[in-house]
Amino acid sequence: MCIDTLIQQLCCTHWLDQAQWAALLRGAGAQEAKHLAQAAQAEAVARFGKKIYVRGLIEFTNYCRNDCYYCGIRRSNAKAQRYRLTPEDIFACCAEGYDLGFRTFVLQGGEDAGFSDDLLCRTVETIKKRWSDCALTLSVGERNRGVYQSFFDAGADRYLLRHETANEAHYHRLHPAALSLARRKECLWTLKEIGFQVGAGFMVGAPGQTAETLAEDLIFLQQLQPHMVGIGPFLPHKDTPFAQEAAGSTEQTLLLLSCVRLMLPQVLLPATTALGTAAADGRERGILAGANVVMPNLSPLSVRKKYMLYDNKICTGDESAQCRSCLQHRLSSIDYEWAVERGDSPLLGTPRTSASTVPAQSG
Ligand code: SF4
Repeated sequence: MCIDTLIQQLCCTHWLDQAQWAALLRGAGAQEAKHLAQAAQAEAVARFGKKIYVRGLIEFTNYCRNDCYYCGIRRSNAKAQRYRLTPEDIFACCAEGYDLGFRTFVLQGGEDAGFSDDLLCRTVETIKKRWSDCALTLSVGERNRGVYQSFFDAGADRYLLRHETANEAHYHRLHPAALSLARRKECLWTLKEIGFQVGAGFMVGAPGQTAETLAEDLIFLQQLQPHMVGIGPFLPHKDTPFAQEAAGSTEQTLLLLSCVRLMLPQVLLPATTALGTAAADGRERGILAGANVVMPNLSPLSVRKKYMLYDNKICTGDESAQCRSCLQHRLSSIDYEWAVERGDSPLLGTPRTSASTVPAQSG
């Protein structure tokens, strides 16, 4: 298959089949990646302008019952120093974030029974009441439908749950037998049915990943039509079974960001902290390859080094205000601006806030 023809088809129709995706990912060199990045950036600018939506990440617990092989806070890592914020700690992060210009808060944590679903609902309710012009995203893993519904009823707007890989055998290479791809996919479909803005995603360069498994990821995203897609390079953590595995490459991550932007032009696409860790200018390059979201850390400084999903994570020693000014400078350096707004998906009909300025449904 001719790579230029595939790129042209992707740009014009926003669609490739699985074999075409695999061929594109196998065959794209530096020149093709540059071409894809230019086209992806143009798509993002056409829809979002030069505005970058900002999400304040609050990592509120690093306890987790699961044991994913790639994760630094997996249950079996006895060296992880565990912590759990209180609702009051979380509200303090929101208050600081609001003053700094954040209008989305992301509560992220492991699957931690110590922070009950009921307490999380009450925390969500309070945040939505106190900061009523803000969106709230949850990223707390797999739950049953009833619990997801209660999160939604409490006011949560969005939910992030990376699928990690859409290939069955590859899923088992990354996760212990207790976790299943079918269950993960079912959670994502359920979240969508309930009405969340849903984010899926995967690591680029994870052990065992191939062009073929990546092609399956892209086809799954095409089917799911998520509102957000989180993609970052795999980065090993020294206290996990994958400690000796090679990290994913910045270039391949950028290529995948461009592919996802061209496949799902309206998607909310973060230039992740992992990308900023893999390369000093990774987030800026991510935006220039089609990303339109950044997710700086709003967690208290005292716990940041304890939420190490991978080694050498950036921004763990900086106050939130420092991160804000650093990021603002980075965005300005590439002629983009920090958007002080919720930044809902353009696919959304009526967002649940009176203060929103979201356009009507466009597709
Ligand atoms: S990736 Fe998520 S579910 Fe898996 S061990 Fe880490 S925090 Fe837990």
